Amino acid sequence: MKRYYLGLNANGPSIKEGFSRGNSRDLRELSDFLAKKYEGTCYLTKNGRSALCIALQSYFESGDKIIVNAFTCYAVYEAVIEAGLVPVFADIDEKTLNFNEKTLNVFWEGAAIHANRIKGIIVQNSLGNPVDIEKIEKFAKKRGLTIIEDLAHSAGIRYPDGREAGTVGVAAALSFGKDKCINSISGGAVIFRETPVHEVEAPVKPPKLSDHLRARFYPLFTAQCKKLNAIHLGGVMMQVLIKLHFVERSADNKLDVSRRLSEFEAKLALRQLRSFRHRGEGKLRDFYFVKNRAEVLSKLRKNGYFFDAFWYEKPVSPERYYQKIKFPEKTCPTAVKITKEIINFPLYYSPEELAPAKEIIKPYLSGRGYD
Ligand SMILES: *Cc1c(COP(=O)(O)O)cnc(C)c1O
Repeated sequence: MKRYYLGLNANGPSIKEGFSRGNSRDLRELSDFLAKKYEGTCYLTKNGRSALCIALQSYFESGDKIIVNAFTCYAVYEAVIEAGLVPVFADIDEKTLNFNEKTLNVFWEGAAIHANRIKGIIVQNSLGNPVDIEKIEKFAKKRGLTIIEDLAHSAGIRYPDGREAGTVGVAAALSFGKDKCINSISGGAVIFRETPVHEVEAPVKPPKLSDHLRARFYPLFTAQCKKLNAIHLGGVMMQVLIKLHFVERSADNKLDVSRRLSEFEAKLALRQLRSFRHRGEGKLRDFYFVKNRAEVLSKLRKNGYFFDAFWYEKPVSPERYYQKIKFPEKTCPTAVKITKEIINFPLYYSPEELAPAKEIIKPYLSGRGYD
C-alpha cells in the first residue's frame, strides 16, 4: 500500500537546505526585503509568536484587551499574554473561519461591560481566507481599535478590496514556521508600519544552539521518518525523536523576544519570498466539514495518511494547551462546532496524492454548501 505522509516537511526545506550556510548578509537582506514590501521597519524574530508579541508590546498598554479570532493557534494566545495583555475571543463565521462584521457586532454587544479596555484587534485570515478588511477597518475605527495583522496563514494573499494582507494594520507579524506560508523551519518577523508607542528592543541574540541544531536536522529526520514509513514505523520514529527533543512540535516552539532566527533560516525565507515558492497565492489549507470525524480519521490513517494535527481541533489549538485557557465556549458556539467537524490538508500535496483522501471523505461530508 502506498503511504501518504502528510504533515512531515512535505514541501519544506530539503536536507541540503537544512545544512546550507547563511551569513549576516542574509539577515540584512531579508529584513530589508520585508521592510520594503510591507512599508515599515522590520525586526527578525525567533518565531511568529515572538513577532506578534513584540508588535503587541509596541502599541498597547499593559492590561489592554485585544480581540482574537476564536479559532486559532495557541501561539496567538501566548503572544497576547506574554505582552501583558488580555485576549478576548470573538466568534467566527463558518464559511471563512474568521470573525466578520456580523459576529463582531454580536461580540461587541456581549462585551459591552469590558469594552472600555478593548484597544486592539488581531486580524488572522484563517487558513489563508481573507477577512472583509474594509468592514473590519470600519468596525475598528468606530470602536477606536488598533489593527495588528497576523500573516502566519496569509503572507502574500489579497483582501477583497485588492490590498495585500500586511499593508493595512499598524504592524504585521510573519511566521516562517513549519507548514506556514513561508517555511524555513522556524523564524518570524515583525514590521512596524507606524511608529511604535513603546520602544521595544530589537531581538539581536542568535538562537540557542539546541534550537539551531533542531532546525538544521529537521529535514533529515523527517526524510528518515518518511522512509521508515514504508514499514509503518515513521510515526513511531517521529514520536521517539519528539521524546528525545530532537524534534519539536511546532506548537511547542518557545516564545522569546530577545532572539532572532538563524542566518540559514533567513536565507531560506528570503529565497521563498523572492521566488514566490511560498503558498501565499491562495489558501494555505483546503478544508471540509464531516460527520463522524473519528471514523473518517481512522479510515484515512488506515490508508496511510499520517496526520500531525488538524487546524484546528479546538477553538485554541492544540488540545493539550486548551485546558489552560478559560475559553468562552458559550459566546463562541460556531468555533466550538466547527472544530469538531473540520478536516484540512495542506494544499501543497499534489491533487494525485489527495485524490484517494477526498474519496474517503466524500460519504461523510456534512452536506453544507461549501464542502
Ligand atoms: C503558527 C501561527 C503563528 C505563529 O507561529 P510560530 O510557531 O510562533 O512561528 C501565529 N498565528 C497563527 C494563527 C499561527 O497559526
